[in-house]
Amino acid sequence: FKNNDYLESLVKQLNDEGAGVILTTVDRLINWGRSNSVWGLLLGTSCCAIEFMALGAGRYDMARFGFEVTRNSPRQADVLIVMGTITYRTAPVMKRLYDQMADPKYVVAVGGCTISGGPFIKSYNVVNGIDKVIPVDVFIPGCPPRPEAFFYGLMQLQRKMKVERFLGGVNHKQPKEEAEKANA
Ligand code: SF4
Repeated sequence: FKNNDYLESLVKQLNDEGAGVILTTVDRLINWGRSNSVWGLLLGTSCCAIEFMALGAGRYDMARFGFEVTRNSPRQADVLIVMGTITYRTAPVMKRLYDQMADPKYVVAVGGCTISGGPFIKSYNVVNGIDKVIPVDVFIPGCPPRPEAFFYGLMQLQRKMKVERFLGGVNHKQPKEEAEKANA
């Protein structure tokens, strides 16, 4: 929103007047739009990124889930999708990209290398899990994950986005009880 201050004052006013029902409905509407129009920033460093390419082709067609738009600028992206081995040299760049994204922002860790270091877990230069550097919302395991696994992970992200409180403070962190409800 361009005029965020105005929006937030409006939300506060509605909250004060006990308009929780209206806010919840508006939240749902906004979250429906957000979760079906997710713009990704792709950080592919090795083979998992090659498997990811299959998602854009006709057989899998990730456009069906609203994930077809990718951006090369972190300032225009909603989700950072990290695919492949992250070395100690790459990690600061990844962190900077994450920092440059606007809230609400999300991170998806794809493949064993990204999640834990994978086959290179004992290598002197590989980060053993990107969650040691940036917060991760969804982990998609595999070496590499099949396109179906990608979709399952991306759909979990959509579920997460749908139960968030968007208005009244842009905060992408999901309250614990809502996360538990969504995963029940
Ligand atoms: Fe390659 Fe496997 Fe690592 Fe993915 S998890 S980047 S496929 S070695």
